[in-house]
Amino acid sequence: MAKIGFIGLGNMGGPMAINLVKAGHEVKGLDLSSDAVSRHSEAGGGVAGSTGEAAIDVDVVITMLPAGSHVRAIYLADDGVLAHAKAGTLMIDCSTIDVQTARTVGEAAAERGMDMIDAPVSGGVAGAAGATLTFMVGGPDKAFDRARPVLDVMGKNIVHAGGAGNGQAAKICNNMILGVSMIGVCEAFVLAEQLGLDHQKLYDISSTASGQCWSLTSYCPVPGPVETAPSNRDYQPGFSAAMMSKDLKLAQQAAQSTGASTPMGAQAAALYSLFEAAGHSGTDFSGIIRFLRGES
Ligand code: NAD
Repeated sequence: MAKIGFIGLGNMGGPMAINLVKAGHEVKGLDLSSDAVSRHSEAGGGVAGSTGEAAIDVDVVITMLPAGSHVRAIYLADDGVLAHAKAGTLMIDCSTIDVQTARTVGEAAAERGMDMIDAPVSGGVAGAAGATLTFMVGGPDKAFDRARPVLDVMGKNIVHAGGAGNGQAAKICNNMILGVSMIGVCEAFVLAEQLGLDHQKLYDISSTASGQCWSLTSYCPVPGPVETAPSNRDYQPGFSAAMMSKDLKLAQQAAQSTGASTPMGAQAAALYSLFEAAGHSGTDFSGIIRFLRGES
């Protein structure tokens, strides 16, 4: 069993860390929120009083933080993880962040003789609790091989996408497809409504025709056709518009820095920003259909 420092015990990190505790690992948790730390210790986890304490004398450091700025600070600051961890410690960053930060921190870890992977997830809070997350991993083969048994405890689909940063690249490319396809499906239903075409009829036809995609058949944005979709529970997330907006902005940041042409991704990012500005950050991202209809 491994000694693990786990930093960021929020909606995702909390249940992920508890799954590691349940599997018998010794997990020192750290969070700015005392409630999050209490939940971790009540589940049998240990507590670290500082970043240094979470990184000292462990085999693995795992981070699950809000954004790239937090990840840079936690790893690279004078009193951060890299300053305290011993050479050979394995670093796993599961946060969703920009590709450049993932590469910068991965290089800094390698310079100090540490193995590091970026391992963002999909599957949401339910996947974190049920240990069914998908991990998209970037980093050297050796680091991936070392991390695999730890990731297996928290997820069920672990994919090595290439070198440092490629886990983040896979995550934002996938979610750009998702954002664009969701808006496309929503627009088709809005047009069908205006044309007098029944939701279920459009679903039955498009779900077996060339319009078929995950946003339609697994997450249908109108109530009825897909029982488990958030559209059947007043667009409670699910995957919030704020999360989608964050990932689309990261995709646009990457597109601008690489010169990739992503006009549909840019439109999707702009629409989700407007949806958020209209007060819907906490609404499921499929709820953007209401915004496209002009509903408040
Ligand atoms: P969250 O805000 O619930 O958790 C983040 C935690 O990090 C908070 O508890 C916060 O107190 C802690 N934190 C921040 N700075 C810290 C510091 N300096 N030291 C210690 N703790 C610190 O967010 P979340 O929903 O758990 O998401 C975490 C990451 O996972 C994000 O990057 C998000 O984009 C990604 N993600 C979330 C979901 C989801 O459905 N929630 C799905 C996929 C990916």
